[in-house]
Amino acid sequence: MNLALFGPPGSGKGTQANFLVQHFGIPQVSTGDLFRAEIKAQTDVGRRAQTYMDRGDLVPDLITLQLVRRRLDAPDTERGVLFDGFPRTVAQAAELDKMLQAMGRRMDRVIFVQVPTDVLVDRLAGRLTCPKCGRTYHPKLAPPQLDTVCDHDGTALIMREDDRPETARKRITVYLEQTLPVLAHYRQQHVVSDIAGTGSIEEVRGRILRAIGVPSAAPAGMSTGWTQGGIPPSEQGGAGDTETAGQRPPAGIPPSDHSRSPGAGHRGRVRGR
Ligand code: ADP
Repeated sequence: MNLALFGPPGSGKGTQANFLVQHFGIPQVSTGDLFRAEIKAQTDVGRRAQTYMDRGDLVPDLITLQLVRRRLDAPDTERGVLFDGFPRTVAQAAELDKMLQAMGRRMDRVIFVQVPTDVLVDRLAGRLTCPKCGRTYHPKLAPPQLDTVCDHDGTALIMREDDRPETARKRITVYLEQTLPVLAHYRQQHVVSDIAGTGSIEEVRGRILRAIGVPSAAPAGMSTGWTQGGIPPSEQGGAGDTETAGQRPPAGIPPSDHSRSPGAGHRGRVRGR
C-alpha cells in the first residue's frame, strides 16, 4: 500500500504522517526529512539541497529523485510507504510512477489536505520543530505540553530557517505554482481523496482514515488496517470526501470505495471548517 499526503506547507501533513505510519506500520518517506538528514551529515547532496531550501525553493528533481530511489531500495519499504512532501512536481510524479511500476507497485491513494492560503501563513510562521523526531508544534495552535521541548522525546524545539515568515510565504507560492499541478496528474488516475485540513488534528485524522476506508474507531497499530465496508454511510456516495477510485481498484482499498460511481467525489471543496 503506497499512500501520499499532499498539501501546502502548513497543511498539517507532517503531524498526520506521524500518526498514519504508526497506524499502518509502513515507513514515512519525507523528502524534506531526507534532505535534512543529508544536511546534518554534511554530504554534497545536503549542501546543494540547503541552498534551495533556505530560499524556500524546490530542490532540483534530479537530486530529489536520487534520494527517493535510494530510499525505496531499502527492504522496509516492501509493504509500501507513506510519501510526505513528495512528489512535488509533475516530473517527480511521472518518475515515481515509473519507479513504482518497475517494482510491481503503484500509488494507491493520494490524500489531498486542503487549507485556505491565509490560514497557512499563520500556521507556518512561528512553527517549532523537534530536530530529533520531526514532530511540529505551534506556540498558539498546537503547543507542546512542556514549554519548548518535544512531547515525544524531550528534545529542545527549534524554529526551522524556512519557517520564518518571508520564506514561508515563498514556499506557499512555489507550492501553488509548481506542486498543485501534481494533483491533476493523480486525478487522472482516480486516486485522490479531498480532505479538509481545517479543524482539530483529530478531526482531520478522522477524515483521512475514513477516506482511506478505515473506521476511525479502529485500534491504533492495526497494521493491515483495511475493513470491508468500513466507511460510514454518511461518507459514502455523493457526500464523501473521496474521489472515486474508478476502473482501477487500488490494492488495499476496500471494495466500498472502488464501487463508488464516477463523479461521486468533488474537487476543490473544503468541508468542516
Ligand atoms: P513543508 O512541507 O513544511 O514545506 P518539507 O520538510 O516537506 O516542509 O520541505 C522543506 C523543503 O525541502 C522544501 O521547501 C523544499 O525546498 C525541499 N523539498 C522537500 N521535498 C521536496 C521535493 N519533493 N522536491 C523538491 N524540493 C523538496
